[in-house]
Amino acid sequence: MVVKQQLVVVGNGMAGGRFVEELIARNGGEHFDIVVFGDEPYGNYNRILLSSVLAGSHETKDIFLNSIEWYQENGITLHLGVRVESIDRARKMVCTADGIQQRYDRLVFATGSKPFVPPIEGLTNAEGQFLSGAFVFRTLDDAFRLMKHAAESRKAVVIGGGLLGLEAARGLLNRGLEVHVVELMPHPMTMQLDASAGAVLQLRLENMGIRFHFGKSITTAIGNGKIDAVKFSDGSMEPCDMLVISAGIRPNVEIAKHAGLTVERAIVVGDDLACVNDPFIHAIGECAQHRGQTYGLVAPGSEQAKVLADRLSGANSQAVYSGSNTSTTLKVMGVDLVVMGDKEPTNDSDEVLTYADRRHGLYKKIILREGRVSGAILLGDCTSAPRLLRTFHKNQRVQGSPAELLFPPRKTSASWEEPSPAAPSTEASPYRARASRRPTPEEETSLKEVIAIIRPERWLKTKLKTEGLGITAFAHHRVVGRGRQRGLQFLARRGAASGTGFRFLPKRMVSWIVPEDQVDTLVQAIIETNRTGQIGDGKIFVLPLDGVTQIPADEPDVGTFETFEMAEEIRG
Ligand SMILES: Cc1cc2nc3c(=O)[nH]c(=O)nc-3n(C[C@H](O)[C@H](O)[C@H](O)COP(=O)(O)OP(=O)(O)OC[C@H]3O[C@@H](n4cnc5c(N)ncnc54)[C@H](O)[C@@H]3O)c2cc1C
Repeated sequence: MVVKQQLVVVGNGMAGGRFVEELIARNGGEHFDIVVFGDEPYGNYNRILLSSVLAGSHETKDIFLNSIEWYQENGITLHLGVRVESIDRARKMVCTADGIQQRYDRLVFATGSKPFVPPIEGLTNAEGQFLSGAFVFRTLDDAFRLMKHAAESRKAVVIGGGLLGLEAARGLLNRGLEVHVVELMPHPMTMQLDASAGAVLQLRLENMGIRFHFGKSITTAIGNGKIDAVKFSDGSMEPCDMLVISAGIRPNVEIAKHAGLTVERAIVVGDDLACVNDPFIHAIGECAQHRGQTYGLVAPGSEQAKVLADRLSGANSQAVYSGSNTSTTLKVMGVDLVVMGDKEPTNDSDEVLTYADRRHGLYKKIILREGRVSGAILLGDCTSAPRLLRTFHKNQRVQGSPAELLFPPRKTSASWEEPSPAAPSTEASPYRARASRRPTPEEETSLKEVIAIIRPERWLKTKLKTEGLGITAFAHHRVVGRGRQRGLQFLARRGAASGTGFRFLPKRMVSWIVPEDQVDTLVQAIIETNRTGQIGDGKIFVLPLDGVTQIPADEPDVGTFETFEMAEEIRG
């Protein structure tokens, strides 16, 4: 009999949960007894969707990833609401706040980060507790507290104009509050956007109702027990009933540090995702630092989770993690945003193409270095993102006009128009440029339709998983399965007394349209979220989309693709 090793995971968040899932998918349960500690009292949930919970567009029950039963079914011991306090590396022991001592052969840190709280006079009382009405936004409990307080508030101030601050602002705006965002830098999302893109985003968010205070910080929280106002660095004040602090994150590394692991900004790991001074301890997600880099996004943690699961399960014990690409696909308060690589040129010889349409909230920029994409920003219209991302990630030389990477040619129903000598240049009218080029063979063959027949109760999980990969379903509807599936044959044998022996099984048919190079990732995600090992699991079809015809519209897509000048022309 194989003696199983003890594998302990500290942190049941997005990276920890994903790692356990990947390990189980690779039959890691045959090699390890898996024990997971999570100090939040809930199962594994999609933290990204907390913003949507706050905004009221998702219910709490919709954001859970793996149910507590899933852990039981897979033989995983899950300690919820239990905080790991220390580790004893000499004894290979994990110690928790409530006295559990758990031995490990392998230990994985996936402890994520905590919000950074800047020094603000008057924010905390003598016991270190926040004034009533002041919050951070990281966990489900934070979201509950925020929602409760928002219900009896009229005006909120959010510190931080980064992604998380804006997401908190969106949530509070949706709940009917007047929302002010305070940001030290001169525009929102300075990490991802250049000044012009920031200005476009600012205008778009102001039109939604956000009030910005740039170039300022908050020095003082004013109130007696509860927050009444904040004071800015320039001496001005803003009354408010709520203060949400979203001023950055700091990796949770204290336990690792005390245990003598090498910690800089986060726990330092090598390409094998093991700590550089202890091969039996690993770190993934936001608490890990790899090749000098820490990440504050889900995707790198998921990539690390897969590599570590490959290594520990033996599926590919030589797998290495060599860093994650810096492209990000986000929705900021409902505005699409894709950023990759550099946001500014770094060499004199870099070529920059920019298209800005503040009025319609559009901004597109591409930086070319020696004929290759070294960076890009797409804000407001991300239709060209798949091709641009492919060119960037594969480091391909840009063929043809680089403007077409920002404004992909548009297919028409009849045929592709030959470029007319009189046609305006691509930069002058991207809308027209879309219809004036024959597609390359690569473009014609690149799309596939993936259809999956799945159990209805798995749909939400599948949706969350695929949307987490940036892939949105094209269509989905209910169907009833009746055919020679394994499940039905089984019922036929068992149910002979019923006459036909067949039973109609409720199913859902979902279809996605994706570039060919995303098919494997999508199919893998569908399998991961739908394989229950029980009778009735469905099928996946991958179909070519040759000769796709787009139905011609009578009017141009006003407000989506046209330039400001064209819109004026159309309105006449
Ligand atoms: C509101 C919000 C919106 C976001 N939106 C996006 C987005 O659009 N796109 C994107 O890519 N990223 C987004 N993020 C960031 C993303 O959620 C994180 O990058 C991701 O969750 C990191 O995963 P992780 O497992 O490293 O950390 P976490 O998901 O934070 O998980 C760490 C877990 O470990 C637990 N833990 C810590 N210490 C201990 C201990 N000692 N004992 C036991 N348990 C412990 C923590 O309580 C937590 O549950 C968002 C984050 C928030 C808060």
